[in-house]
Amino acid sequence: MPTTVLRHVAHLATFDHADRELVDVDVVCVDGWITAIGAELPVPDGAEVIDASELLVLPGLINAHQHLYQVGLRAIPELERALIGPWLGGLGSRCVDWWESGRLGPELIGALAACGLAESLLGGVTTTADQHYLHPAGPTLPLIEATIDAARVVGSRLHAGRGSLTLGREQGGSADPRLVQDPEEVLRHATELIERFHDPAPGARIRVDLSPCGVHVDGAALFEAFAELAAAHVGVRLHTHLYEAVDTAFSHGRYGISPWEFLVRHGWAQDRTWLAHVVDIPLAEIPELAAAGVAVAHLPAPDLRMGWGCAPLREFLDAGVTVGFGTTGSASNDGANLLGDLRLAALVHRTGEQDPERWPTARELLAMATRGSAACLGRPELGRVEVGAAADLSCWDLGTVDRVGQADPLIGLVLAGLSDRAHTVICAGEVVVRHGQLITADERELARRANSLLRSG
Ligand SMILES: [Zn+2]
Repeated sequence: MPTTVLRHVAHLATFDHADRELVDVDVVCVDGWITAIGAELPVPDGAEVIDASELLVLPGLINAHQHLYQVGLRAIPELERALIGPWLGGLGSRCVDWWESGRLGPELIGALAACGLAESLLGGVTTTADQHYLHPAGPTLPLIEATIDAARVVGSRLHAGRGSLTLGREQGGSADPRLVQDPEEVLRHATELIERFHDPAPGARIRVDLSPCGVHVDGAALFEAFAELAAAHVGVRLHTHLYEAVDTAFSHGRYGISPWEFLVRHGWAQDRTWLAHVVDIPLAEIPELAAAGVAVAHLPAPDLRMGWGCAPLREFLDAGVTVGFGTTGSASNDGANLLGDLRLAALVHRTGEQDPERWPTARELLAMATRGSAACLGRPELGRVEVGAAADLSCWDLGTVDRVGQADPLIGLVLAGLSDRAHTVICAGEVVVRHGQLITADERELARRANSLLRSG
């Protein structure tokens, strides 16, 4: 395993418990862990030394909600302006087309995931939580397995979420029956994924989570079975979409309760759970999430793109809810630019709020995208720079013309900049991005391969 020393870091924002920010320090990474932080540290024999005197160094960013397969579904003209109903229908028909034309298989999904994870690494994201719910009816294809392979190739950490669509139109749900699986098959495959790939150890590169797509497309029995399966495995967490408008209407219509009440009833009000979106939640329920230890992934870009508006971010924070940050998949974002979405969040929550003290600060937002997302994923060793934490670092160039004149590098990182590409990225102690270039794979070759698989068939 490599030993790396970041020498003379211009500005280190640790996002540790004390929110320490340090100037002109060294960071030593040995065997995938941070072993020392301080001034003029001795350089271990054989270490690679990186001059960080013009770098802002943060923990590796963590995307707490992503659908990597949607890299193949970007910028579709018919879905540029679509409400959730037509959007879901359009997405479903394109996935059915992939399937019926023979394109939907591990090759395509692996190639798309490699592009999405490479894009993420280039943007400083060292851990991605992928929720893969696209599975054609019948026996499960090794699509999540291909995503895990892609993460290993490009050098990213991955939380592989075993997603599902199990309530088709015949079962009163809204999913296309050609993309609906039997809950028994979902559970069989989820168990197999955990046994084959889930690493419960601190510093794990791959973990498996259980992530039904939502209350409107999965039934109570599956939610309960997933809660039981998670409880039997250290580090396996529970994740789903909640309060994205469509599930709110469905839950009230079918069950006569809110989506949150559905989760409470079926064993998900627990600290293994984190939820995506949570836009139209009744404010009275927010303290219940906090009391249950349920975390939220804030996803402002898709929330805005779908016309839902802003999630009540300040109310979450005031109530003590753990908040992480994510992009969601590319069909409703359309990129995986976490830093760009932080900029959006910094601005959009000002709308209609006359008290600037309630606007999120750059540091609050970066805390969400680092240790907040880490808490969503149950990874206390990630999302912070301190001795004993994992050696995941995102480093940003302060020596460029777009950073001139910045009084504060963290505010500048969020609010300014010509590009959101990181300068250097280290994941599990390995340098994966150097001078803004991916070094674990050929970026253009990844893109060529994915494009060619999308066009075939
Ligand atoms: Zn999503």
